[in-house]
Amino acid sequence: MAVEGTSEPSDTRGALRPALTTRNRGQCLSAEREGSLYIEVAVQYHFAQRKVGCKKMKANSRAISCCAALLVLIANSAHLFAANATVDSNKVQITVLYDAFGKDSVMQKDWGYAALVEYGGKRILFDTGNNPDILAQNAKAKGIDLSKLDFVVMSHRHGDHMGGLSYLLSVNPNVPIYAPKEGFGVFGVFGVDVPSTFYRKDPSLPPEQRYYNGSPPEIIRGGTAWPSANFRLVDKDTEIAPNIHLIALVSDKPGTLELRELSLAINTSEGLVIVVGCSHPGIDKIVESATAINPRVHFVAGGFHLVVTPDAEIERIVTVLHDRFSVEYVAPGHCTGEPAFTALKKAFGDHYMYAGLGTTLITTQVGNHR
Ligand SMILES: [Zn+2]
Ligand SMILES: [Zn+2]
Repeated sequence: MAVEGTSEPSDTRGALRPALTTRNRGQCLSAEREGSLYIEVAVQYHFAQRKVGCKKMKANSRAISCCAALLVLIANSAHLFAANATVDSNKVQITVLYDAFGKDSVMQKDWGYAALVEYGGKRILFDTGNNPDILAQNAKAKGIDLSKLDFVVMSHRHGDHMGGLSYLLSVNPNVPIYAPKEGFGVFGVFGVDVPSTFYRKDPSLPPEQRYYNGSPPEIIRGGTAWPSANFRLVDKDTEIAPNIHLIALVSDKPGTLELRELSLAINTSEGLVIVVGCSHPGIDKIVESATAINPRVHFVAGGFHLVVTPDAEIERIVTVLHDRFSVEYVAPGHCTGEPAFTALKKAFGDHYMYAGLGTTLITTQVGNHR
């Protein structure tokens, strides 16, 4: 398949392996940009073929059937366009723009997370990494124009996810940015409007001792570190565009108590594709919450926050994801942690997707064979 490529050197499933679970920069993207529509459709057709019958077919017969499919598809271009439109509406493409591990020598590794998520014609930047210059460098290396986004999701108020926001605003000052709304007790960095009823009053005090001389405004506007940014604060699960949901949960973990975090959940025909930032509320709780949208979880990518977690707890989390929620594929990165990479790899086998800096994951192409 001309448009397929993989960045996984350990891949041993052969040339007909449908899924390019990961691919190096440039390979497939350049083919798509050149407008090789029939090739794209042929690949998707091949995946469909694989889903219905691959277990019964031998490799040789699959190769023949794929070539035949390609010829038929080329000959029927009108049909191709319709088929492509249908398949693409369920394709989610995730490009890791910021992380501390990866194979790409041009991009700079640093602690933090950012990813470009593309779905249904929408371009979504999920988090902005740790440093504005590095975000700029890495986006440039991937040929990604951050001035062309539909919206941004900031997962939470930690610097390793917000650090690139100043660069983003310099190239895209008006982009809508979904960010977590903090509780009334926390005047968070994204700003929040707080009703002045939040504080207790004592009318016996003289006016100069009272807040606002005893006559507070109805709403006290909390400041933000980015006053010109177009923040849209979210405090509950919300569908922000068709099939694109934000999961809002509050951490109850020591060190991040009361921190609200947003995760992205895209509802596709293959099941949910979930992108997480740091999973401070718990990756298990995020996945559980997302299953209210769709009980089938196809793909989870991002930071699982098991970076300092003891082995026993890592095992518990991995078991919950694999056995209880039947998560089909994982593409862990960022704060997941090295021992958790190992444990997830062991449990998920070839359903573990490498997701280092610079990797592009295409979730519809990982197939459905579990
Ligand atoms: Zn964090
Ligand atoms: Zn983080």
